Amino acid sequence: MTQLQPRSRFETGEDLVVLKFGGTSVEDAAAIRRLIEIVRTRLHAQPVVVVSALARVTDQLQEAGNTAASGHLGSALAMARDLYIRHELLAAELLNNEPPDKLGCELQAEFRDLESLLSDVASCRQLSPPAHDRLLGFGECLSSKLVDAALRDAGVGAVHIDARSCIVTDARHEQATPVWSLTSERLRRAVEPLLRLRQVPVMGGFIGATAEGIPTTLGRGGSDFSAAIVGAVLHASRVEIWTDVDGIMTTDPKLCADAKVIRKMSFDEAAELAHFGAKVLHPATLAPAMRENIPVYVLNSRYPEGAGTEIVAQADTSTVVIAITAKRNVAAVEIEAPHGVSLGLLRTIYAVLDQHACPVDIMATSIGRVSLLVGSTAALPRIAADLEGLASVQWENHKALVCLVGEDIRRQPEVASRIFAAVSDMDVRVPCQGASDRSISFLVEESRVEESVQRLHRLFFPRQEPLADWGGNPSAYCRAS
Ligand code: ASP
Ligand code: MG
Repeated sequence: MTQLQPRSRFETGEDLVVLKFGGTSVEDAAAIRRLIEIVRTRLHAQPVVVVSALARVTDQLQEAGNTAASGHLGSALAMARDLYIRHELLAAELLNNEPPDKLGCELQAEFRDLESLLSDVASCRQLSPPAHDRLLGFGECLSSKLVDAALRDAGVGAVHIDARSCIVTDARHEQATPVWSLTSERLRRAVEPLLRLRQVPVMGGFIGATAEGIPTTLGRGGSDFSAAIVGAVLHASRVEIWTDVDGIMTTDPKLCADAKVIRKMSFDEAAELAHFGAKVLHPATLAPAMRENIPVYVLNSRYPEGAGTEIVAQADTSTVVIAITAKRNVAAVEIEAPHGVSLGLLRTIYAVLDQHACPVDIMATSIGRVSLLVGSTAALPRIAADLEGLASVQWENHKALVCLVGEDIRRQPEVASRIFAAVSDMDVRVPCQGASDRSISFLVEESRVEESVQRLHRLFFPRQEPLADWGGNPSAYCRAS
């Protein structure tokens, strides 16, 4: 087990560690038992536990909501019942000592609320953003109560905290942002008395509420962000993200079998990777950790002895390329302005993109044109209609954005020439390169993405044959999910 950093920030003079467990790390009784053992090894460092919904639950809630909104209440309720049964069976499997009734009643109360929400959705035939956030949040409400009871049953002094009463956000449903002052006040008020008694707070990630108490969510995958928020507010000495891979990999192992774990990287590199589509961390996670200089570790709950990936302010600068990401389903959009791109037009374009919540990866402007890369084409027809008369909008689908990340990548011009030489026979397009110092990216046809990533991985991470007399276990090092 890696040694905890000797840094005392909490007022009692103890360390404080935020442990976040993702969906696969709480998916069944075996996973929750592993979680309990991990929490035990951290008890001396004052853990605060943040959990995701059980694996697949958020998607299933979404599906139940869509089904209800299309008028099929019976099927939606059947889906809800399946979810309830899964949690109840798990509770029965995990609880041996705790009276099962208390948790049973709590799960049942959540289930009744879920049923009544689905009925409301079915009768108004729509899943409004506030209803969506209430609905998706059930997963974390259920999992956090379950994990809390399981920890207590195993003799760990856990106490459940309602994240919606502590994580205060703005009202931007489905993508809310924390209101830091209120979050800090409420979270500290809830958690600090428990810490003084050396109890272990357990809360759901992903969910929050406005100051008025209207439930919100932090965006899909947002439990990582919750953990970073909790870490920043409580001045944790580290945040551990427990998942089902050995750490952040040099590339997606599904694209390239030679992908390996990155031992150490900087906040900036990790943020760049998250922005360019690496799935391991929610993109907003690193900002609070960076601001408070709290190291973040990505660790495998199925292999807790592994060192994982350590994300810190300063990483080793001897590695030029730290990782290669590929984001599929990218569209290259050209907005042509016959009368030139004025500041007023740019303002309008930004406003229209914002209004349609269209996520932009890269943007560049020239005299008569604005070029964008966007991750979803769903809103483009409406954006084109809104800009009609001011500019014409065209786009090309089925592109992939391949991105190479490294702290010093742009300061070494020969790196770019090596990259483009490796893919010189492919139809490669280079979008604007000025925006980031830490990445070089290009567009390629989606059908060529694997090949381009494999070539580049071979170039920057040449495979090393294991030494014949080495007694370690290389497969453990390279294992993913
Ligand atoms: N359960 C939520 C999701 O699946 C949040 C998370 O797991 O981070 O998006
Ligand atoms: Mg996640």
